Amino acid sequence: MSADITRLVKMRQYFASGATKTYSFRKEQLKKLKSSIASHEQDIYTALYEDLKKSPEESWVTENGLVIAELNTAINNLQRWMEPDSVGTNLVNLPSGSKIIKEPLGVVLIIGPWNYPFQLLINPLIGAIAAGNCVVLKPSEFAPATDAIMKRIIEEVFPPEYILYVQGEGASVVPDMMNNFTFDHVFYTGSTTVGKIIYKMAAERLVPVTLELGGKSPCVVEADANIRVVARRIAIAKFSNAGQMCVAPDYLLVHHSVKDKVLSALKETIQQFFTGKPEESYNYGKIINEKQFTRICNYLQNGTIAFGGRTNREKLFIEPTLLTDVSLNTPVMNDEIFGPVLPIISFHTMDEAKAVIDRHPDPLAFYIYSSDNKKQQAWLEAVPAGGSCINNCSWHLTNHNLPFGGRGHSGLGFYHGKYSFETFSHKKAVMKTPTWLDPDIKYPPFKGKLKLFKWVIK
Ligand code: NAD
Repeated sequence: MSADITRLVKMRQYFASGATKTYSFRKEQLKKLKSSIASHEQDIYTALYEDLKKSPEESWVTENGLVIAELNTAINNLQRWMEPDSVGTNLVNLPSGSKIIKEPLGVVLIIGPWNYPFQLLINPLIGAIAAGNCVVLKPSEFAPATDAIMKRIIEEVFPPEYILYVQGEGASVVPDMMNNFTFDHVFYTGSTTVGKIIYKMAAERLVPVTLELGGKSPCVVEADANIRVVARRIAIAKFSNAGQMCVAPDYLLVHHSVKDKVLSALKETIQQFFTGKPEESYNYGKIINEKQFTRICNYLQNGTIAFGGRTNREKLFIEPTLLTDVSLNTPVMNDEIFGPVLPIISFHTMDEAKAVIDRHPDPLAFYIYSSDNKKQQAWLEAVPAGGSCINNCSWHLTNHNLPFGGRGHSGLGFYHGKYSFETFSHKKAVMKTPTWLDPDIKYPPFKGKLKLFKWVIK
């Protein structure tokens, strides 16, 4: 047994002790986590700047502030979430009573990516703690500064038999754990390619999974859209974190009649937001590493650069870039872009635009800009997706009252707020039957009782 597996076995024993299950314990852990995150606020900003050149303001909105909001939601609602749900009982089972108990799953594994390295590891942790589990946290190895501060926070607050922080290269650390220990749930955020590897390993041991994956999230701009709003909302969602956002609009489908207007509004807006020198802008991030930089730079060859296109390998800088004349057969229209390159494709009819979207079904997000309610509804019904915004991009994920997750190619399961608590709980069906009534009708001999059974069970 490797050293890590011994630690996982200790977690299993700790879970079995029942220590993590009470309301008071869960609430206390959430509060301790909150106060540690608050006291390390500056360290978190420093780390996120080092890894991704994020400003404190952007970090608050998309990383530590979002996590604090999630913690507040969990702390304020935990008691209610934990209460059993009373449900009705059918005729055949009367006078029994029925309820659903939310049972912790056990020892769960949470695997995070590098693009929002803090939020995407700690937010699921909140749901897992709220639901009464022991948790193994596996961060991405590609955001080392954030990895280091998260390790400090977790190890300062929690003992390793309760929350274990495991660093290292995912391709070796994760299989080592998953192939030698049966987790009660694996919650994975990252690429579809690795998501499939996780799913296969989990299947071997029948471990349930949540897969928060990526993909190409399309954005449709209809002729009747408010162009100024379109440009501002798309520019911020596409170029925040230098485009390294799972729910960034991947490409635009713009009605041909407004294509030029949208293009020039976007150019103007990008300059307003990130200045003529985005590499020096407080508001603009950098690419995580050279491998990603090279991958994204290759997309610049896949169309006409209508705006931007400058790069600097040393600074891992890629300018916010608008691409036109893009062929659907190029890599930029087949890979998830995950960088600050925005292809703009024009369409004449909804069918034509939908045919482009259907080449990559089940996107994580789908965005519609139109001032016509009927068009909005028609688009909403036409494109199955993890989530959608109308006249907006990406912000749906910051509302903890909405479930966040993909479908099909973009993932499996959901979380945030109460949905996280549900993801990390088992809904245990419980029926309690009194003994004062035990009618013979339920027992053999059955002959001649069919009519009665048909009356009772229908
Ligand atoms: P990734 O799949 O490379 O890595 C994610 C995690 O998996 C890391 O912790 C890594 O160490 C681990 N890992 C890597 N190879 C592994 C292997 N062979 N076996 C087991 N674990 C392994 O993803 P990434 O590059 O960090 O993130 C980018 C992707 O994540 C994009 O596709 C993006 O769309 C997606 N994403 C999705 C969401 C969402 O909420 N749906 C959020 C952010 C990112």
